Amino acid sequence: MNNKLYGNLIFELSKPGRKGYSLPRNEYGNYNMPESMQRQHPAELPECDELTVVRHYTNLSANNFGVDNGFYPLGSCTMKYNPKINEEVSAMPQFTRLHPLQPAETTRGAKEVCQRLKKALCALTGLADFTLKPFAGAHGELTGLMVIRGYHESRGDMARTKVIVPDSAHGTNPASAAVCGLEIVEVKSTADGRVSLDDLKAIVEAEGNNIAAMMMTNPNTLGLFETDIPAIAKLIHDCGGLMYYDGANLNPMLGACRPGDMGFDVMHINLHKTFSTPHGGGGPGSGPVGVRSGLEPFLPFVSPYEAGNFGVVMKAYAYILSLGRQQIKMVGPLATLNANYIKECLKDVYLLPIDGLCKHEFVFDGLKDKSTGVTTMDVAKRLLDYGYHAPTIYFPLLFHESLMIEPTESESKDTIDGFISVMRQIAEEAKTQPDTVKSAPLKTPIGRVDDVLAAKHPIVNYKQMIHDNN
Ligand SMILES: *Cc1c(COP(=O)(O)O)cnc(C)c1O
Repeated sequence: MNNKLYGNLIFELSKPGRKGYSLPRNEYGNYNMPESMQRQHPAELPECDELTVVRHYTNLSANNFGVDNGFYPLGSCTMKYNPKINEEVSAMPQFTRLHPLQPAETTRGAKEVCQRLKKALCALTGLADFTLKPFAGAHGELTGLMVIRGYHESRGDMARTKVIVPDSAHGTNPASAAVCGLEIVEVKSTADGRVSLDDLKAIVEAEGNNIAAMMMTNPNTLGLFETDIPAIAKLIHDCGGLMYYDGANLNPMLGACRPGDMGFDVMHINLHKTFSTPHGGGGPGSGPVGVRSGLEPFLPFVSPYEAGNFGVVMKAYAYILSLGRQQIKMVGPLATLNANYIKECLKDVYLLPIDGLCKHEFVFDGLKDKSTGVTTMDVAKRLLDYGYHAPTIYFPLLFHESLMIEPTESESKDTIDGFISVMRQIAEEAKTQPDTVKSAPLKTPIGRVDDVLAAKHPIVNYKQMIHDNN
């Protein structure tokens, strides 16, 4: 395999005149493109033969790490196993060959899938209706907030421009509210990691008539169940606001409880997390938005070709059907069991800032022994040497050395025990050979990168790389 840092770009394999295609002889003459549509300069494309291209991309793919390669305990991302039957079902030509503009009566199968998936999502969440249009979790948040804004505006209630967001929230929550033109009011967490009712009461007292909604993640970003939901929902509803549920991390709730029953009015679900579509690196995703009864008119207009990211919709539907009504109830409890098992087996060597039962994930605040100087970053990098994907690090922002672990329900006890013993070994190495841990990874194609340089001076295209190298 070609592991040189520079020299594995397809452009570097290019030779003028090489081709990887052959077209039949043109029997129809040339069509003269209007000048305005013609390129000013030839496209700068690499020129390679087919085999070179195949090898290039095959070797690149071997440098990738995914759930199918090994354990991937990335907190807040739900990197569960994506059953292969999902791929088979979503690749059926009866669905993949549909054209968005073909007559509606010929697309009934696809529409039926959408209807059935919505029905299943309603049953799992306790809400009345869903739109499958949004393409990701963040897109769902924006859509959901627009639903909420539409609801307030329909009542002539134009002053509701503020959204309450907990300080532990996923970064997309305040971002979506801002994109929606709403103002963010942060509510603090208590020492036990849950929304502070006292702080919330003060906010509602001061801002009550301006509150459009409160956004919550439950279990929250620390993996903790928000036990005060009924009181919180009452406070927000009494002042005229709506409750928004960030259901990106619905996984631990499956079969255990439903946001609709807890008083939430609007929510999104990340199909690509909880309902098993390979994701990461920006896609593919799907973030359906659900509403309680009465809010249906504020969902986006539904054209006959509604299905958003249809491949992901198919995978979610296949996943729900293949688990079935009984098995799906095991997802949440097993994900919760796995997380608690890891937490309990490691909390004597990693610092657990908030003790007690967690849901599907939990957060350590780095190693317990702070005298070694080994940081969360070092631990994460060292894990790569042992063939594991790193957990989520330095998020949530509530602790200095956050290390957030989410094992999901799909992992066997053997895999989890293997991870635990490696985490313990790294804790030991931090004491006996800290320099090794601090210079990790030592076995990956690319060693420790300079994060600060990469952030301050990112090299984002080929020409810049050549320029900077010369
Ligand atoms: C992943 C995640 C999101 C964002 O989802 P995307 O599909 O990446 O846009 C939002 N909230 C929480 C809690 C998440 O974990």
